[in-house]
Amino acid sequence: MLSRLVKENILALKPYEIKDIPCRVKLDANESPYGYVFEERLLEGFKPNRYPDPQAMGLKRVLAKQLNVKAENIVYGNGSDELIYYITMVFGGPVMVLQPTFAMYEIVAKVLGEETISVALDGGFDIDVDRVVETINKEKPRIIYISSPNNPSGNAFERERIIQVINAATGVVIVDEAYIAFSSVEGFINAHYENVIVMRTMSKIGFAALRMGFAIGYERLIAEINKVRLPYNVNTLSQELAMRALDNPYFINHTVEKIVEERRRLYETMRGLHGIKVYPSEANFILFETKSAKDIYASLLRQGILVKKLGGALEGYFRVTVGTPDENEFFLRTLREITGNV
Ligand code: PMP
Repeated sequence: MLSRLVKENILALKPYEIKDIPCRVKLDANESPYGYVFEERLLEGFKPNRYPDPQAMGLKRVLAKQLNVKAENIVYGNGSDELIYYITMVFGGPVMVLQPTFAMYEIVAKVLGEETISVALDGGFDIDVDRVVETINKEKPRIIYISSPNNPSGNAFERERIIQVINAATGVVIVDEAYIAFSSVEGFINAHYENVIVMRTMSKIGFAALRMGFAIGYERLIAEINKVRLPYNVNTLSQELAMRALDNPYFINHTVEKIVEERRRLYETMRGLHGIKVYPSEANFILFETKSAKDIYASLLRQGILVKKLGGALEGYFRVTVGTPDENEFFLRTLREITGNV
């Protein structure tokens, strides 16, 4: 019966499951451990009878000023996840992804019935430019996703390699800078490539609950994305709170600094552990690999620590989000015990 009612490509999909696993220390989703405390009076007198500002002009103005672009260069989404939908609708497939990377690029392409093409990153998790260019020439992808810093490997790609892909591309290149706040590399917002759209999100810097993502690019491309954007895709409270958060760079800068400092400490400590291979990171998480401890994921969880267990080509790899100093200390102590590094 279902096959009569539901589209074939949807029937073939499995739902993207985000399990709510009870834990004491949540280090699985690349969130910030620090939450901004909004003033209570912000809600006083808030009347929800009118629809949100359909253009989010106030918010876009604040952001435009900070990014040194015009409001017309920005389109916002209910998280960058929603922008991935819009981008895929507007530009279509084939959609090229560089694996391993953020799963949503491929998931959305499949939902929308677009073809996907995967090219593996090289042994150092950087872009294999020769293979990418060769595949571009053969398959002519209409979208290429580049997550830099990349989730889940944590590294930022070499700038020159990204530029080579941009120059070879036949369609748009989406440079997803979800983690750029934690990185020392230069982003692509003001790099002025006509075929590049940069994605940013507020989710990793303390505001995941607001669901606020941005795409920044040439006015004419952004205008096309605006055609498919639902008119009230981000609610009034999120718009208002996001605007205030962006207006208070102290909180964001200060917490990002703390996370970067803790990332350094986590990395240095993990590097000294036997049986653990740890990868350098420019993001708010660290990728590590272990063969020695059999069920490290379950052992950590028994102690109340939730990390992300990766699969597929990254079987035996884990991704741990940088937490507060106390959380990281607890994680390190537990990891040492589990792996016999005492
Ligand atoms: N891009 C990357 C690379 C991510 O890792 C994530 C979150 N996991 C997103 C985009 C989605 O972010 P948002 O919360 O803005 O939807």
